[in-house]
Amino acid sequence: MDSKEETEKLLDKFSVDRSDIDRVVKRYPMRVNPYFLSLIDREGDAIWKQCIPDIRELEDEDGLIDPLNEEGDSPVPGLTHRYPDRVLFLVSNRCAMYCRFCTRKRRVGDPFKEITMEQILRGVEYIKEHTEVRDVILSGGDPLLLNDNELEFILRELRKIRHLEIIRIGTRVPCTLPQRITPILCDILKKYHPLYINIHFNHPREITSESRKACEMLANAGIPLGSQTVLLKGVNDDPDVVKELMQKLLRMRVRPYYIFQCDLTKGTKHFRTPIKDGLKIIENLRGHTSGLCVPHYVIDAPGGGGKIPISPNYVVDQNKKEIILKNYQGGIYKYPKGPVSRGMSPKISIKEG
Ligand SMILES: *Cc1c(COP(=O)(O)O)cnc(C)c1O
Ligand code: SF4
Repeated sequence: MDSKEETEKLLDKFSVDRSDIDRVVKRYPMRVNPYFLSLIDREGDAIWKQCIPDIRELEDEDGLIDPLNEEGDSPVPGLTHRYPDRVLFLVSNRCAMYCRFCTRKRRVGDPFKEITMEQILRGVEYIKEHTEVRDVILSGGDPLLLNDNELEFILRELRKIRHLEIIRIGTRVPCTLPQRITPILCDILKKYHPLYINIHFNHPREITSESRKACEMLANAGIPLGSQTVLLKGVNDDPDVVKELMQKLLRMRVRPYYIFQCDLTKGTKHFRTPIKDGLKIIENLRGHTSGLCVPHYVIDAPGGGGKIPISPNYVVDQNKKEIILKNYQGGIYKYPKGPVSRGMSPKISIKEG
């Protein structure tokens, strides 16, 4: 289905301003598949905001085209080698839907930026030549938008590389098109262990019986599942919404991995949230719910320095001998920095909060 047909279908269901959408899709493509569309309850809700073009995408003067300088750290097209031992490998530029806040807005869905098999083979060759690479992250676009044969070909080629220890797939498909997770696909994936899948979920309402089923099938294929979430204004910038999402992910054997501060991507300014809101979200998780569902809150450094963790301050003060800590309830604890020495107060913690 092309963008135009999809706009038509959307117009049938909701009263949207077609001229605005038309203007935006000239620059940034739109794709909303029927499944994801069916999750929209009403105009402007958390699902809508993620997938329906907004005129503000064209009004962002400050954003960066390639905020993480992925092209700059790219020794061969489509492959980013930024960290010492792992590479990001873009194998598709298509997705099951185009998220309006996407960091790779510059390339996803652009028919002129399709990734060719030749380019993929060059990437495989690069990994082969670089024995320090022990971890590859297949990304895109969405690797699971490749067909089974294409995907298996890439996995098979990668598995021939002796120094490559793990393969990861970053995908939004279990969330945006769970029907793509078939028994045949799972049978393919499980031949290439150790294989990890990291899924992208942003809102509890994305967790449906279909997405649960998809995650169950993948987990039953022995694939450890992680997730990432992007903080988005009006979608999930709310501690209780995020807590519900994290708990629901854990129940379907998805271990929350990262919460991202929204990148400074051109066309996404209206989604950006203050850092302090992100810190509040983390504070509302740590200690208050299973540690297993507390992800790392990170900022991907603009210009390409990698992911930098940020955390609420649990160390409130320190001197030569002690650090002063705050627990999740606000209680204050004094703790020796090294071995407890004579003369130090035997009471090493004080609770105030
Ligand atoms: C996120 C990312 C990775 C993987 O980082 P981890 O912290 O190991 O998950 C690798 N390369 C690039 C360029 C990335 O953006
Ligand atoms: S699924 Fe990922 S790569 Fe694709 S549009 Fe959404 S955020 Fe971008």
